[in-house]
Amino acid sequence: SKNEGRNKLKVFDPATLHARQLQRQIVGELREAIRSGQLVLFYQPIVELSTGRIEGCEALVRWNHPVHGLIMPDQFIPVAEATGLIAELGRWVLRTAVGQLRRWRDNPATKQHDFSMRINVSAADLQSLEFVDDVGEALAEESLAPESLVLELTESAIIHNNELDRYTLASLHRLGVGLEIDDFGAGYSSMGYLRKLPVDRVKVDRQFVKDLGKDPSQLGFVAAIQEVIRSCGLEGVWEGIETAEQAEALRSIGCASGQGYYFGRPLPEMEFTEQLARQVVW
Ligand code: C2E
Ligand code: CA
Ligand code: CA
Ligand code: CA
Repeated sequence: SKNEGRNKLKVFDPATLHARQLQRQIVGELREAIRSGQLVLFYQPIVELSTGRIEGCEALVRWNHPVHGLIMPDQFIPVAEATGLIAELGRWVLRTAVGQLRRWRDNPATKQHDFSMRINVSAADLQSLEFVDDVGEALAEESLAPESLVLELTESAIIHNNELDRYTLASLHRLGVGLEIDDFGAGYSSMGYLRKLPVDRVKVDRQFVKDLGKDPSQLGFVAAIQEVIRSCGLEGVWEGIETAEQAEALRSIGCASGQGYYFGRPLPEMEFTEQLARQVVW
């Protein structure tokens, strides 16, 4: 039948087969990778647009694979989410990022009390009651104020929520860590929830920054988004800034913070420490 034919095609499609094998291999190896220290965090600056000062960074995970080299998160985060390994990965990211923040505080060259570390939190983490405790403990162990950690949550993680998610979100808010919506505007056009959630920041998806400097009408559109964010009492962080024109356009309409290759690519600990110590980005 037609269906059989389609199934056969899928099963014997070499690309699909390869992808499946790779996925299975990744699942098997990822658990071991987390335990044996093959994951690394890279850090990308977040810049105060009015001054050019580095106000924080985002921690982005990479897998330093002994055979395949540096594997990007898009290749293994979805696998980790589908298999439940994400909880262990998330705990590793939390501990590592908070430990790093402590080292930068202890280093006179990078000491900056209002510098904040952002980590990406997966939807699954919001479904675990332990997550709130993990965050509180990690901060307490390094004697760091809760507001020095900002959790980035995607819209889909927040909107497709259930009671437990909302409880976790409220608990994190009470704990005092910063909560930020990531990829704002990427998938969901409803803005009503912005005023109802206990979040303080919005990271706007890079699609809105992309056409700045090319299409003149885009600045008005971006200014309107900025106004929505501001009127909700939130702070906007603009990601995907790749050119001086984009940075200047955003600054000119009063956008607070920016992130992107123009200010700096995600860097390993040593290189980012140097950039932070110099405090020169643009
Ligand atoms: P994201 O949270 O939206 O992170 C921003 C992504 O945009 C990063 O990709 C970053 O390298 C890239 N980027 C930064 N500036 C620019 C720019 O100017 N132009 C362009 N085109 N891209 C820019 P990366 O590191 O490959 O991460 C991809 C995604 O993987 C992240 O998207 C996030 O959703 C996920 N991810 C990364 N690290 C973690 C983690 O520790 N935990 C979880 N759960 N997810 C993570
Ligand atoms: Ca993010
Ligand atoms: Ca993002
Ligand atoms: Ca994303």
